[in-house]
Amino acid sequence: PSAFPPVFEARDVAVHFGGIRAVDGISFELTSGKIFGVLGPNGSGKSTLLGAMTGLVHLTSGSFEFHGSAYAARSAVSIARGGVARTFQTVRLVPSLTVHENIQLAADQIWTVDAGDGAPLRGSRRRRAAARQVAHAMELTGTAQIGSLRPSELSYGTQRRVEIARAIAARPKLLLLDEPTAGMNKHERREIGDLLRSLRAEGLTQLLVEHDVDMMVETCDHLFAMNSGRLIAEGTPAEVVRDPLVEEAYLGR
Ligand code: ADP
Ligand code: MG
Repeated sequence: PSAFPPVFEARDVAVHFGGIRAVDGISFELTSGKIFGVLGPNGSGKSTLLGAMTGLVHLTSGSFEFHGSAYAARSAVSIARGGVARTFQTVRLVPSLTVHENIQLAADQIWTVDAGDGAPLRGSRRRRAAARQVAHAMELTGTAQIGSLRPSELSYGTQRRVEIARAIAARPKLLLLDEPTAGMNKHERREIGDLLRSLRAEGLTQLLVEHDVDMMVETCDHLFAMNSGRLIAEGTPAEVVRDPLVEEAYLGR
């Protein structure tokens, strides 16, 4: 057991779709301010796990705790407002809105801005605080210069960065990223790695699903490996990539 209480805890979580055991009894803890990674072959249940953690997929059994309170029964919106943000495996920006408007939308809909005393900010004070958070998210992700463009005018890699900006604009306490570098070149992947490390420097806890093993080893503090809905290994990146079960299931060696 660690000295600090976990930010997030999954206890024996399962998600079954009819006879398919997409997630089949998983328990883990995420501690504050670290980047956690999930490795696993296609179909091993990674996206389903993220869906369950964000209330988009119904849990068959088990439970989650976030900052010490259970949330399995809460809606996706209330989980998001509670501080769990995610990006999707496929880009989900609103095509008719500009980059700035897409990011602003998350701050408006999700972020419960408080003045530090738990009471929500309202009116012009709220708008100013939200505008600052949106500007910060755009600065961090390098999207400040393209705020007036629409998603269709951007490269795929840039659209993915806007997705991350949108997630950050909601000022989450836990950020889940589903294959954020899929379809990116090496240079763009390195930029995303740098971005996630700068978010970690701000104290943001992250759970990253990614296929690029080198990137996972470079970026993550702790890795989980999944296969067929189960956790088959966890530990430091160095430990996990040389685990025989992981080599067999994932790396094909
Ligand atoms: P990964 O993200 O690791 O590639 P997924 O979580 O997408 O894996 O899928 C895990 C398994 O669950 C796969 O067999 C997939 O076909 C199945 N699955 C995922 N979502 C659904 C769904 N909505 N209905 C039925 N089966 C699903
Ligand atoms: Mg997936």
